[in-house]
Amino acid sequence: MTTIFAKIISGEIPATIVYQDDLVTAFTDINPQAPTHILIVPNKAIPTVNDLTAEDEQAAGRMLLAAGRIAAQAGIAETGYRLIVNCNRDGGQEIYHLHMHLLGGRRLGPMLAR
Ligand code: AMP
Repeated sequence: MTTIFAKIISGEIPATIVYQDDLVTAFTDINPQAPTHILIVPNKAIPTVNDLTAEDEQAAGRMLLAAGRIAAQAGIAETGYRLIVNCNRDGGQEIYHLHMHLLGGRRLGPMLAR
C-alpha cells in the first residue's frame, strides 16, 4: 500500500525535507507537537516495527543515527529530545509507513499522557 510518506520520499508530495540519504528520509511533521518535530522514515515502505526483518537492520540503525545528527543540526542535542515510534492501534499509529518522531525544543513532560 502506498502511503503519503512514500509520496514524500519520491518527491510526489511536497514536504520540508531536512535530511535524506540512501536509506532514510527526514521531514518536518505537518502538525508539530513541539518546537522541533521531525519524522524519520526508511526509504523502503516498511509498514510497522513488526514488519522489520534482518535485511532492514541497516535502515533501522540509520534512523537512529540520523536522529542524532538532525538533533545536533536543530540545536537540541544537548538540551535533549524524545524519539517515539508508534506501532498499530494501541500505539496510536496513523500512517503505516514506519517512522520515528523526533521531538524537542521544550520540556516534554512525563513520557505518557494518563
Ligand atoms: P503516527 O500517529 O505515529 O502514525 O504519526 C503520523 C504523523 O504524521 C503525525 O504526527 C502527522 O502529523 C504526520 N503527518 C501526516 N501527514 C503528513 C504530511 N503530509 N507531512 C508531514 N507529516 C505528516
